[in-house]
Amino acid sequence: MSTSPLLPSAAPAVEVRVSARRKKTAGAHWEGDRIVVVVPAHLRGAERDRMVDDLSRRLARHRPHLHASDDALLERARALGRAYVDGAAPTSIRWSRAQTARWGSCTPSTGEIRISERLRAVPAWVLDAVIVHELAHLLVPDHSPRFRELEARYPRRKDADHFLEGYHLGLRTAAGTP
Ligand SMILES: [Zn+2]
Repeated sequence: MSTSPLLPSAAPAVEVRVSARRKKTAGAHWEGDRIVVVVPAHLRGAERDRMVDDLSRRLARHRPHLHASDDALLERARALGRAYVDGAAPTSIRWSRAQTARWGSCTPSTGEIRISERLRAVPAWVLDAVIVHELAHLLVPDHSPRFRELEARYPRRKDADHFLEGYHLGLRTAAGTP
């Protein structure tokens, strides 16, 4: 196990695994918020470094929120509010480590939204679906039909639910929770 020194510190951690079974091509995938690059054993030195760097950069582009700030989150929420939720905007929106049982939370009385840190590693369209859900709570606190109508304006709402179900199971497995 090693962490690539090739990427700047703002990038996700990269673990390189050497596989004797892999003959030709290298592969990369996410494990939580880490990128794992599997390289064939014959690939060494600079050639291997280049391959690891290239694959991990390509993969990192699909997870643009890994190191996004709260300000970036606010900008995103405002744009989503304008596009889907009648211009609803939070007074504040922050990444939260405390959010372990839920993906997000909203306090309609203060207009504050919290988004679970665990969503940093999901694709942008999944994070957006969660933000739209919380924005809709600024207008409708419960899960009434009026609320469902609002959140359904986000085109990939159902896809996002399916993704999050699988992601939740994956996180539990990774954490060793039966
Ligand atoms: Zn809700």
